[in-house]
Amino acid sequence: MSLDGWLACTECRICLALGKPIRPDGDNIRYFQVGYTANSAQSDLTRALWKFLADHAGHPLRVLVTGQPGYDDLEHFIEIGGDAAPDIPFEEYLQDFRADFGRAADRPLSTG
Ligand SMILES: [Zn+2]
Repeated sequence: MSLDGWLACTECRICLALGKPIRPDGDNIRYFQVGYTANSAQSDLTRALWKFLADHAGHPLRVLVTGQPGYDDLEHFIEIGGDAAPDIPFEEYLQDFRADFGRAADRPLSTG
């Protein structure tokens, strides 16, 4: 695990890299950063996050950073976005995922 922050489903033993925790004012994490582009501007990462949340609704999800109990177990988890087997690359994870299914414009209008 080379990045410091992870979203993990401890039931399915799968995780998604959140990146480095940024703490500009001290101990509190303000955001996570993978590379030089804001996480929210990284389409695959953002879409994978929403798919991850949907896939693991009702499961025990944890945000883990270095040093927390359970962090070391992540080395045995499958990584979404990883490129070494048994990890799942974003392209494969997102191949059937459409993030626009729930757009308000697609919903039938209520006729009251
Ligand atoms: Zn799960």
